[in-house]
Amino acid sequence: MTIAYVALGSNLGDSRRYLTEAIDAMERLPQTRVDGRSRIYRTPPWGVVDQPPFLNAAVRLDTALAPAELLDALLGIERAAGRVREGERWGPRTLDLDLLHMDGVRSDDLRLTLPHPRIAERAFVLLPLNDLAPDLEIPGQGHVAAMLAALDPSGCEALP
Ligand code: ADP
Ligand code: MG
Repeated sequence: MTIAYVALGSNLGDSRRYLTEAIDAMERLPQTRVDGRSRIYRTPPWGVVDQPPFLNAAVRLDTALAPAELLDALLGIERAAGRVREGERWGPRTLDLDLLHMDGVRSDDLRLTLPHPRIAERAFVLLPLNDLAPDLEIPGQGHVAAMLAALDPSGCEALP
């Protein structure tokens, strides 16, 4: 079994429901268990700023799936949530699932880059990841709590 961290985001439709249903769907994946979940955060849009705020969360999985199998499963859960992959990159979406890190795995593929290359610059990823694994070291990027401390998370708030 391998530990994996997944970031979840949504800013279209009933975002809280998309996130909780995605976690339920991950729980139903073969050979996979959801081992921890972060709080849900409301965060300002990033990249394309003229769009609604996001809800973001992260989960820790314990999985026997291979990295490519896990990515395919996550993209399948996005599709089932009505994610339409057209329009602008970083535009509004019902559900975005990003594989952040899998213990001991590196991948330089465009289809699957691991660790995810943009963890260090994103408070909306690091806030929930810090709930789960503040002491995690992301190879090539750094220690989760330290990377978060270097960012300005203003505008992001944990939901009750
Ligand atoms: P973004 O998450 O950057 O907004 P998308 O969700 O549209 O972009 O993802 C585009 C593609 O990124 C996916 O089809 C997937 O193959 C690829 N990709 C590469 N590395 C990863 C990763 N670590 N997690 C998720 N997707 C990845
Ligand atoms: Mg994505």
